Amino acid sequence: MSNDHDEGVRTGDDPTKAILSESGLNSKHLCDYVVNVATGCRHGCKFCYVPSTPNIRTRPDMLKEEANVDNGQKEWGNYVLYRDGLGGRLDKHLDRKRTWRRTRRGRGVVGVSFSTDCYMDGRAGKITRNVVQALTKHEEYTRVLTRNPILALQDLDAFKEGGEYVTIGSSIPCMDSDQVSAIETSAPAPEHRLRGLKEFNDHGVQTFVSMSPTYPTQDKDDLREHLERIAECEPAVVFHEPINPRGGNFEMTVQAARDAGENKLADALDQLRDREQWVSYATDHLRWVQEIGKELGLPVHLWPDKQLIKYVSDDEAVWLQSWRDRQSPEDFAERETPTTPVPSCPIYAN
Ligand code: SF4
Repeated sequence: MSNDHDEGVRTGDDPTKAILSESGLNSKHLCDYVVNVATGCRHGCKFCYVPSTPNIRTRPDMLKEEANVDNGQKEWGNYVLYRDGLGGRLDKHLDRKRTWRRTRRGRGVVGVSFSTDCYMDGRAGKITRNVVQALTKHEEYTRVLTRNPILALQDLDAFKEGGEYVTIGSSIPCMDSDQVSAIETSAPAPEHRLRGLKEFNDHGVQTFVSMSPTYPTQDKDDLREHLERIAECEPAVVFHEPINPRGGNFEMTVQAARDAGENKLADALDQLRDREQWVSYATDHLRWVQEIGKELGLPVHLWPDKQLIKYVSDDEAVWLQSWRDRQSPEDFAERETPTTPVPSCPIYAN
């Protein structure tokens, strides 16, 4: 264990042997595999689902031994265990690997890193560079997701060399940096994320954006402005989902917004515990993003929650289910993009 890494974040080494893991993120058209460059994430987003996954819950001994972590969930954001040398091991693994999983939605893509931020700092970035190089050298499609694409620009050469095999994206839930920093306490500001993606796009590297999750404080005009800004990086796809008020971390998210003085956000989030309020907000946001995306000519892809479909009208259920069944419009990994119009929304004309 070492404590030399700044801001009180405890760091260590992750001795995990697994290199490439199959992933269920194909349901969201993201990937069939994931590679994680570290365990833990210094951004410490309050709504993050990762600390409640087995990856953290089942490894208390490793967390204690490597970074003196007593409670992996409560201390989320305050520890990182790095997987130095992962790129070299992955390279050898890919030399030997004979079969590859390619689902209709996941397209065999490898996601880097969906349980941490692969460019959260320089040490993670160094591992990520080698991972991207190993994957693209083996002509495996690689999806890099980071809230810090500006730092990723240090590896622009590796992304350019990766050519059609790599895309980089960022979660940009809202453009209001005060609200975002209230619940994504240590992550770079949304403007910073967008600037990084624009730079990648300017250099011919394909980009994507995840508006995940949009906030209940955003009205239709805010979402229009948000999508107009996102259009600046010419993303190949804009994924969108509203926030989901389920799960233990939701309480922490509301409290974090309140602690940061963002009472309007805290109140609006709090109200989502009422199911009717959540359904109304979630369906409005999904409709508006679809409608505005069409107006702006953006390749929007909605991620409606399975639970939401249970609580809407029959017409709305058909509309939302069509989105769940529909292929993503992203031109990446030899995907057959949809040729039919987007699903008809029961309230707004398409
Ligand atoms: S950047 Fe991603 S992995 Fe890291 S805390 Fe935020 S949501 Fe979780």
